[in-house]
Amino acid sequence: MDNYEKYQRAREERKRQQERRRRRKLVIVVLLLAVLIAGLVLWKSGRLIKPRKAASPISAPSSEAAVQTQPTAPTELETEPVQETEPAPEEDDDWMLVLVNRNNPLPEGFTVELKALQNEQFVDDRIYPELQKMFDDARDLGYSPLINESFRSHERQQEIMDAHIASYESSGYSHEDAVASAETEVAIPGTSEHELGLALDITTVGDIDPTSLWSWLAENSWKYGFILRYPEEKTDITGITYEPWHFRYVGKKAAEEIYSSGVCLEEYLTNR
Ligand SMILES: [Zn+2]
Repeated sequence: MDNYEKYQRAREERKRQQERRRRRKLVIVVLLLAVLIAGLVLWKSGRLIKPRKAASPISAPSSEAAVQTQPTAPTELETEPVQETEPAPEEDDDWMLVLVNRNNPLPEGFTVELKALQNEQFVDDRIYPELQKMFDDARDLGYSPLINESFRSHERQQEIMDAHIASYESSGYSHEDAVASAETEVAIPGTSEHELGLALDITTVGDIDPTSLWSWLAENSWKYGFILRYPEEKTDITGITYEPWHFRYVGKKAAEEIYSSGVCLEEYLTNR
C-alpha cells in the first residue's frame, strides 16, 4: 500500500505541477496579450495625435473665432497673413503704374475711357480731377499752362513717327538712319505713353516762355500724382531724350516716392 500511496501522491504532485505550468502559461499569454493591447493603444493614440496637431492651424482660427469672443494673440497672428493676401488697393493702382516703353508695348487689347478737354485733347477720365487741380493751382500762381499733346491713338503715333522719318530723309539721311534718329525722339507706335491717356505734353499759352512753368511742374506735379517722366539724367534708362514738357500720371503715392527718391519710372517699378 505504501507503494500505491507513493504512486498516488506522485501522480497528484505531477497533476499539480501540470496545473501550475498551465496557469503560468495562461498568465504569460494574458501578460503578452496585455502588452500587445497596450502597445496597440499607444500606437493608435500616437497616430491620432499627429493628424490632430497638423490640422489645428487650419481649423483653430475659424473654430476659435466662432467660439471665443476675444481671440487669443496666436489667432490674430494667424489671421493677419490671410488678410494680406488680398491687396485690393494695390490691384486698383495697377492701371496708373502701367509701364509703356520700347521694351514694354501697350497691353494687348488696351482700352481707356477718355475725358475730352479743351482744344481737342483727351486724357484718361480717372486723372482728370487731379489734372484740373494742378492747372488751377498753376494759374493761381500766374502760369498759363496749356496741354499740347495728351492721348494719342495708335494711328496718330504712327503719323508722328512717319513725319519725323520723312523730315530726316529730306535733310539727306538714309531711310535707316532717318528711322534710327526718329526713334530716339518719337516713341515707336505701340510703345508711347501717350497711347495710355496718362501722359501730357505741357506748354504755355501763346508766346509765353514755358521754362518757368516746366520748373514749377517738375517740383510740384507729384502733389497731384504726376511725374517728370523723362529726366535729363535718366535718358540711358528711359531711352528717351530729356523732355521737360512730358508729364505722366502715376498716382499720388508713386509720384511722391519717385520725386523724393529721384528715380525714374523704370527704376521705381523694378525696385518696388
Ligand atoms: Zn510726350
